[in-house]
Amino acid sequence: MIKFLSVIFQKKIHMIQNFKSKVKSFKYLSKDVFEFVLELIEPDCIDFKAGQYVTIKIPHEDEKPLFRAYSVASSPLNNKELLFWVKHIKIGEGSKRLAQLKIGDEVMLRGPMGEFILRENSDRDLLFVAGGTGIAPFHSMIDYIQRKGIKKNINVYFGLKNRNDFFCEDCIENLIRIYPNIKFNLCLSRENGNVDMDYRKGRVTKALDEDFKEFKNFDAYICGGKEFIEDVENLLISKGQEKENIFYEKYY
Ligand SMILES: Cc1cc2nc3c(=O)[nH]c(=O)nc-3n(C[C@H](O)[C@H](O)[C@H](O)COP(=O)(O)OP(=O)(O)OC[C@H]3O[C@@H](n4cnc5c(N)ncnc54)[C@H](O)[C@@H]3O)c2cc1C
Repeated sequence: MIKFLSVIFQKKIHMIQNFKSKVKSFKYLSKDVFEFVLELIEPDCIDFKAGQYVTIKIPHEDEKPLFRAYSVASSPLNNKELLFWVKHIKIGEGSKRLAQLKIGDEVMLRGPMGEFILRENSDRDLLFVAGGTGIAPFHSMIDYIQRKGIKKNINVYFGLKNRNDFFCEDCIENLIRIYPNIKFNLCLSRENGNVDMDYRKGRVTKALDEDFKEFKNFDAYICGGKEFIEDVENLLISKGQEKENIFYEKYY
């Protein structure tokens, strides 16, 4: 009964709506990841939880519109603008169209959606494991945790290929500076040489395996591609993590 009521309550506070917005800013952060901010126009604000996503309607002059899901990278404490980090997939029609957005363009979206949200009542520490643009929901969560003054130890493992792929460096550095309870591990699977920052050589699973004997005391959140999630989940379970304390968002 309590679970049923809580589902109804959640649905009420997260009413899915259509929004009209316009592009406030757009820029490339690395060779294949761009960010853009949508300013909401009608309605002019959105209630969402850190970690949720919206579906963006991506129009085309001649062809049918496409609909693609994107995690909100910004904190829900700013509910008038939404930040997105998107990978420009060479073979992907949706991200190719989004990459052509211009400041002032009108964009329709629908949301908020998704259950990849913080279990705020849990007293376990947090393990955030992200591949590529899968860092977006974690940026929203960490910003929210920090602004709300929630005291939690957060271990972040962020997997990329090379140093130059670290598209959200400034944002992450800002969060680390103001929120001392974060241990941030950048894991670079293809980097060999010396670079201008600390990093873990290899995939996130290697770093996690080296750092932890067991995972029992965490709520583990994983975001990225299917194989990435499976690899991380298998490692966590093999080292004692309860399945019910693993939450994930699969991008593709
Ligand atoms: C809940 C949810 C949230 C998402 N949030 C984000 C986000 O914040 N940022 C983001 O960049 N993407 C995100 N995605 C993925 C996004 O919805 C699209 O699938 C992606 O932009 C590709 O769309 P496309 O039309 O360009 O390519 P498609 O034609 O749909 O796909 C082409 C191929 O690209 C691959 N692919 C899809 N996404 C990725 C990716 N991120 N990295 C590498 N390969 C990929 C797939 O294997 C697919 O076969 C999210 C997906 C879901 C389900």
